Amino acid sequence: SQLTLKDPTLLTDRAFLGGEWIAAGARSFAVTDPYDGAVIADLPDLGVEETRRAIDAAAAALPAWSKTPAKVRSVVLKRWFDLVIENADDLAAILTAEQGKPLAEAKGEVVSNAAYLEWFAEEAKRIEGEIIPGPNPQQRILVLKQPVGVCAAITPWNFPNGMITRKVGPALAAGCTIVLKPSELTPLSALALAVLAERAGVPKGVFSVVTTTDAKAFGTEVCKNPTVAKITFTGSTHVGRWLMREGAETIKRLSLELGGNAPFIVFDDADLDAAADGALLSKFRNAGQTCVCANRIYVQEGVVEAFTQKLLDRVAGLKLGRGTDDGVTLGPLIDERAVAKMEQHLADATAKGAKVLTGGHRSKLAPTMFEPTVVTGVTQDMIVTKEETFAPLAPIISFRDEADVIAMANASEFGLASYFYARDMKRIFTVAEALQSGMVGVNTGALANEMAPFGGVKQSGLGREGSHQGIEGYLEVKYVALAGL
Ligand code: ADP
Repeated sequence: SQLTLKDPTLLTDRAFLGGEWIAAGARSFAVTDPYDGAVIADLPDLGVEETRRAIDAAAAALPAWSKTPAKVRSVVLKRWFDLVIENADDLAAILTAEQGKPLAEAKGEVVSNAAYLEWFAEEAKRIEGEIIPGPNPQQRILVLKQPVGVCAAITPWNFPNGMITRKVGPALAAGCTIVLKPSELTPLSALALAVLAERAGVPKGVFSVVTTTDAKAFGTEVCKNPTVAKITFTGSTHVGRWLMREGAETIKRLSLELGGNAPFIVFDDADLDAAADGALLSKFRNAGQTCVCANRIYVQEGVVEAFTQKLLDRVAGLKLGRGTDDGVTLGPLIDERAVAKMEQHLADATAKGAKVLTGGHRSKLAPTMFEPTVVTGVTQDMIVTKEETFAPLAPIISFRDEADVIAMANASEFGLASYFYARDMKRIFTVAEALQSGMVGVNTGALANEMAPFGGVKQSGLGREGSHQGIEGYLEVKYVALAGL
């Protein structure tokens, strides 16, 4: 590949099991550039046997790691954070090569998500229990927090770097050990992070990366294996449901960050320029492939024309192309299937009367590129309002009043993110409290940062990542009844 790195050892073709780097044996798979299909690396295609080895190594490493003083775990995580920041350019180059997003966005992902390592390095030292008065003077109630144990993580391809630090960071901070299966489409970012984790002094077996194309075999093993205490997953609601079912027998602890269908609402008292900036960011970053991307844009009747024009002006400024090319702001979709889904949603909308204002076609640049598209005249019976499009398609729906838009926004089984732009204080509180989602952006199109609890309600998931709450999912509460005092 034409990938040139300052530190070429960050690009590896080996998996990382129990502190050993494993070369491909008989079975391997290719990781390709979604822009042109060029092969970047061939990785070992591992199976159940290697997954078990990684789990056993994690179990073997658990006693020492969980007993390592929090302050020492914190130092290791902080060193890992420093190494990620020092190597951010290389990590971004690897990310763009395997995922396609513009290089500046990739660097943003690396740096802003490294912050989870730094944050949880700090939180490691603040795992505090409680002492509660007992039911009589001779007793006290002690509440201890202990690591849940061996964890398994499954991560998607849309944030190949960031989805790892926000899971592995809190797990290690809590004293857990963890086996990760990154998406088979984007495993190189995970392995590069593992190279740096090893360099930072993460002990053997505490963090393993299993590379495989057989996601189901890995999923089945981590669900059924009684050694695994907890599974943390980011991906589709469909797979999240499946993990819950498979993990039911062993009562797996689960953190699930699943699909969304984010409404983005513009009220008539909003700053329309700010709203158009926010919509552009929320809809088109990562080519629309984020679980918190605006999926449906609701605009109040009186401002729909003005807002739409402002959005169109901004969309016209997007530059399509290969993620590494200068000034590119919109990269390819991950694969052909993603393009087909966008086409299907668009065809359904236009068949039911929506009008294409810009875009509407595949780009000639590459088979996985689609023009940024804005459609108007969208109604609630179109697929675009019901399913996550995960592509650069912005559907505009007009609404009458608060009650009208709240009903439409909440008419979804998902509840991850929502956004609205308004200035009236009463309206801001009313709408923020009424929207059924785990996160609400008010006058902003950006939600994720390490200081905030990221996660969904309804069928968008369980648990929170980030903030002091992000470590709770990796801790068990133990109650000690202290008597005879
Ligand atoms: P997406 O639609 O974003 O690709 P998926 O849920 O299919 O979402 O994929 C997210 C992650 O889940 C990937 O790492 C993928 O390999 C993994 N995955 C898919 N199916 C399963 C499964 N049955 N068990 C475990 N992991 C799975």
